[in-house]
Amino acid sequence: MSVTVVVGAQFGDEGKGKIVDALVKKNGVRLVIRYNGGANAGHTVVIDDQTFKLHQVPSGIFHPGVTCAIGNGAVVDPIQLSNELNELQRRGVSTNNFFVSHRAHVVMPWHPLLDLAAEERRVEKIGTTGRGIGPCYEDKAARRGIRVGDLLDQATLRAKVQELWELKRSDLRDFPELLARLPSAEQILGNMALCAGQINPRVWDVDEMTRLRWRAGECILLEGAQGTLLDLELGTYPNVSSSLATSAGACVGSGLPPKAISKVICVAKAYTTRVGNGPFRTEQDNEIGERLRQQGQEFGTTTGRARRCGWFDAYMVKRSCEINGADGIVLTKLDVLTGFDPIRVAPHFIKYEPIDYYDCLPGWTESINDVTRWDDLHENARDYVKYLEQACGTDIIAVATGPSRDAVIWR
Ligand code: GDP
Repeated sequence: MSVTVVVGAQFGDEGKGKIVDALVKKNGVRLVIRYNGGANAGHTVVIDDQTFKLHQVPSGIFHPGVTCAIGNGAVVDPIQLSNELNELQRRGVSTNNFFVSHRAHVVMPWHPLLDLAAEERRVEKIGTTGRGIGPCYEDKAARRGIRVGDLLDQATLRAKVQELWELKRSDLRDFPELLARLPSAEQILGNMALCAGQINPRVWDVDEMTRLRWRAGECILLEGAQGTLLDLELGTYPNVSSSLATSAGACVGSGLPPKAISKVICVAKAYTTRVGNGPFRTEQDNEIGERLRQQGQEFGTTTGRARRCGWFDAYMVKRSCEINGADGIVLTKLDVLTGFDPIRVAPHFIKYEPIDYYDCLPGWTESINDVTRWDDLHENARDYVKYLEQACGTDIIAVATGPSRDAVIWR
């Protein structure tokens, strides 16, 4: 009986999708639950010569017989979900084992518009992806949100849409251009009916199913979106997401009790990236940052936005490991650091900005791409991993050396 949480230790985009995919196979996982966030998250899984970009469907979907579900803590854009399911099917991936919680909240067509309006109003921009995730969580907290289960009940849905449509129209009155993009209540109901037709057989009491399968001793993986530093509670507020990204959020967002969690894995990049505004202590807004961006292809999976890049911040990752109760770190994208010499790291004891001191480690020039054995890794690369392990106070249990599914060293 084991429940593993996979959580980002930085600002998201750490490469969690690939690690979830690998762990499903390695640990014989039978059920994967996405427990937070919405379609703004993008998880990439590369299988042979095919690249899949998942926005809402959990990254376990490529393993036949593994159930994948969106938990109550995530929010769902039904139109995008339908598109994502169609695209997976078109590319030969079965979605028969996919389910979505009836308790998950629905991103409605007014939410992206409200997202843009709110960002416009802010003096200090948050740098939202504009997908409506924040406003959807706002409606959830205000106890007026529409849930996936509501999509299946025509009468309830009609009443809610009509009521909320008026309210949202009034919220958008200062933004005529955005207001003009708001579809009529009837159009919205029509579109939702189409999506509901496709999603209907996939709607389930996911939290109950998860507890049942946990009690039956199945191996379960809880997949986090975003990262600890974007967590609503413990991240760099207000530049955070609206959801609970930590391992504690994994319980809330899946319906499992805390005692069910047997293992927590923090995924961290070998350097740091951040999308959007907000504090980033080790940012390299210079040639080094540009090189990291190009070598690491640091452009958003969902938005295509260039990510801000900088050195590894050991204080921040150590803090994330403590918050999540990490049993191990998976370090991704080590290959991207090839050619950097020296490699700098903000040490674990520097808590305050600005960072006026970096530890320097020797780099390497030989390619370490797709290396799968620890002993085959360049000595300096191994030393870098060992240094980070010490600095973060947590074992690095695996190192990823390339985008491909198999480019992982399990130590
Ligand atoms: P996630 O949201 O945490 O799943 O991360 P993303 O999928 O947004 O970003 C990770 C990106 O890095 C994807 O394009 C992956 O294919 C890629 N990736 C993952 N691991 C590695 C690695 O070890 N090396 C390299 N070069 N790319 C990787």
